[in-house]
Amino acid sequence: MKIRTIETYPLLYRLPSPYGDANGLKTFRSAYLIRIGTDDGVSGWGECADALETLHKGFHERIIPELIGQPAADRRKLVRSVKKLHARAASAVGMALSEIAALRAGMNITEIWGGRFRDKVPVYASFQSYTADADWRKRSVEAVERAAAAGFDAFKVKIGGKPIEDDQRHIADVQAAISGNMRLALDANQSYDAAAALAWRPLLERQPRLLWLEEPLRIQYVADYGLLRQRMPVPLAGGENLEAAADFLPLLTQRALDYITPDPLHVTGIDEYRATLSMARAFGIRATPHAFDGALTRLHALLAQACLEPFGKMQPDAIEPVEWDAMDNPFTGLVPLRPSGGEVAVPRGPGIGIELDTDLLAFYRWDGSRYE
Ligand code: MG
Repeated sequence: MKIRTIETYPLLYRLPSPYGDANGLKTFRSAYLIRIGTDDGVSGWGECADALETLHKGFHERIIPELIGQPAADRRKLVRSVKKLHARAASAVGMALSEIAALRAGMNITEIWGGRFRDKVPVYASFQSYTADADWRKRSVEAVERAAAAGFDAFKVKIGGKPIEDDQRHIADVQAAISGNMRLALDANQSYDAAAALAWRPLLERQPRLLWLEEPLRIQYVADYGLLRQRMPVPLAGGENLEAAADFLPLLTQRALDYITPDPLHVTGIDEYRATLSMARAFGIRATPHAFDGALTRLHALLAQACLEPFGKMQPDAIEPVEWDAMDNPFTGLVPLRPSGGEVAVPRGPGIGIELDTDLLAFYRWDGSRYE
């Protein structure tokens, strides 16, 4: 079973109304999918994220010529070799070859991973709360209200991009808009130092229903995270940009976080991603996947979460939620899954269990023009 074809699908959507986080406003959303086909007619999909120009050049000039003719079953070896050329691209190769392995076995990918603990995985609606509008707070609250009306019961909103007083007014508005059994996470995208993060403590002490505070500090400040964890009345989360299971070790060994947030687009390869989840379990620290970009990536996060053992004995069915992009992004529709009651039913069919929407792939295909 040799790799015979690799098709690439660079996708672009220019946002009619830019939105963003503490890092600034986004004017577009992009995605990069690949489809690897083998000489015995099996094919699997993968996804990665980076500048479209970089990925497209990398795949067509280096990665595709290197992979054609290689054994599709040598997934880990091939991911390692692609990682040397482009780490982000290797994630797509790992996903596609995992799906091919499952299809060859006639199994769902969760079955070749050792089977599932559950068929449904909770998701939370994730927002980019800032816009250029003067009434950004009102727009943000309305978006959260729409998600609540659609059945979500957990939400993540942004802080860190405005003066703390403005952000705290926003959080108070959001809290007032959601009902008592709903939960909220706050994400600062590494905006603060420890002193600024501690300025949030009075408000957090009055908000018992917070899921977590995400990345108040640069993730490299492990000792400060440890101190903050002692002083803050809310769980701490972070690590979405780390690239290997071992990169999480300082955070885990120094007990600096309550939740790690690995992303299958950023940890190189789905096998390494799953190793990261297992490592979190070994350290007794929760893992809630970051999966804002990429519908296929989110599906892989859901499949992996279905296979993750429970984090405690008190609620044997409980599992950490997966992030669900609740913003204007047509690429969410590439994967035909919709949350219901704050959960997603994880598909059971062969491979990844779903078909991607190829009409959307064709409609949003990037034409090579500049977009930044
Ligand atoms: Mg984050």
